Amino acid sequence: MPQFNHLIHGEWVASTSYSPNVNPSDLTDVIGEYAQGGASEVNAAVAAAAAAFPAWSTSGIQARHDVLDKIGNEILARKEELGALLAREEGKTRAEAIGEAARAGQIFKFFAGECLRLAGETLPSVRPGIGIEITREPIGVVGLITPWNFPIAIPAWKIAPALAFGNCVVLKPADLAPASAWALADIIHRSGLPAGVFNLVMGRGSVIGDALVQHPGVAAISFTGSVGVGRRIAQACVESGKKVQLEMGGKNPQVVLDDADLAQAVELSAQSAFYSTGQRCTASSRLIVTEGIYPRFIEALQARMAQIRVGDALAAGTDMGPVVSQAQLEQDLAYVQIGKAEGATLLRGGTRVACHTGAGKQGYFMSPALLVDTHAAMRINREEVFGPVASVLRVKDYDEALAVANDTPFGLAAGIATTSLKHATHFKRHSQAGMVMVNLPTAGVDYHVPFGGRKGSSYGPREQGRYAQEFYTTVKTAYTLA
Ligand code: NAD
Repeated sequence: MPQFNHLIHGEWVASTSYSPNVNPSDLTDVIGEYAQGGASEVNAAVAAAAAAFPAWSTSGIQARHDVLDKIGNEILARKEELGALLAREEGKTRAEAIGEAARAGQIFKFFAGECLRLAGETLPSVRPGIGIEITREPIGVVGLITPWNFPIAIPAWKIAPALAFGNCVVLKPADLAPASAWALADIIHRSGLPAGVFNLVMGRGSVIGDALVQHPGVAAISFTGSVGVGRRIAQACVESGKKVQLEMGGKNPQVVLDDADLAQAVELSAQSAFYSTGQRCTASSRLIVTEGIYPRFIEALQARMAQIRVGDALAAGTDMGPVVSQAQLEQDLAYVQIGKAEGATLLRGGTRVACHTGAGKQGYFMSPALLVDTHAAMRINREEVFGPVASVLRVKDYDEALAVANDTPFGLAAGIATTSLKHATHFKRHSQAGMVMVNLPTAGVDYHVPFGGRKGSSYGPREQGRYAQEFYTTVKTAYTLA
């Protein structure tokens, strides 16, 4: 069985313990054994990053551009192979996974360009004869903690801006799906980046993640994951004065109004709720449907769901891959029961199934679930399930739809299906989400614009696009007497 090690100060470092990375589509398939580190590996990685920081933070922007561009080019050139690895370890379909790998490559190339576009400001002083320069500087060693559901894109959208703006990195990927992050680390390692600028330490969140958060040599933590873990990280960062950025869960609404194009509304709802097995922070798990279209929408959505082929992520024809793990599968199935116990009606799906190919592979396959007769106070409408489970809320009109859409502790993404310019415009302005989609799935965003939410979904500056510089730089104001 191949073993995959930590990357510390430009060297692959063996571990005393390893953990198997199991394919959720085929539980007999072990991708490899991945190092499980401890505090000593975190200490070594932070020391390596701190030692590399003075030179990297003052390196030329051309050098930074070139290395990021090279990383992006290799990812794009190998997107099919990286996508197949991602599908094998995480369970999104091959096509979805290749798309994610390509996105990681595009992100590196975007931030290669950002190296050349970092601008400051010059202003006159209110005091005569004095000039003011406002510049952005790197912040130091950043700890990046990432989840399993986008195992290459999320590391990419944290690593690329961190490096572009002159920081050094310790990445701690999710222990459930470390292979894609390891493959990315290997590409970064061979890119010509000086030793120690980028380090990878794998292992448990409560061990490696916590050690990074507690480490006095780490200046900032960027975290994507669940709300509970994120809040604890924020508390620890505030106590030690670290800069912190959190991207967490969602309970995203998809509003469907009477005047929507029915086929379009059904397609974008099915895509957002069930594709990538519903394991996207931007998935629509609450479908908020007005009375006039409700019966036709429910009927058409069920017909669309019947076409979704569930099975091996790498098999031809699969539309929806497996749930990522036994624990996540149990959680998804439990939420279906919780919804029923609260009075919801399960119209379709919500059970463990076999692979559509009939190949007999044992995986964590679950049929997409549709619950109706739900109301906003139910747990199924308040808590993130993070699986292929959609609940439908029937509402009177647009005003009630907007109120229900905003009635959530989360605020990541929100969508509306309508042909009314008035309602679309009002929804864009009044939705309490960080990202709003009109006649588009809530899941599916560009890589060159800000990504993030409000309320319980996010904390701190936005990720991605030009806005990423807010977290990965610190502002300096310099006064000069002429
Ligand atoms: P998780 O919170 O369990 O883990 C995320 C990361 O934190 C992992 O690397 C984990 O090992 C680490 N971790 C766990 N305990 C830790 C601790 N005590 N200290 C430090 N680090 C620790 O989340 P997950 O199950 O990997 O991912 C699913 C969650 O991620 C969902 O809630 C989903 O909505 C969220 N997510 C959010 C976004 C977004 O951008 N808003 C994107 C993707 C996923």
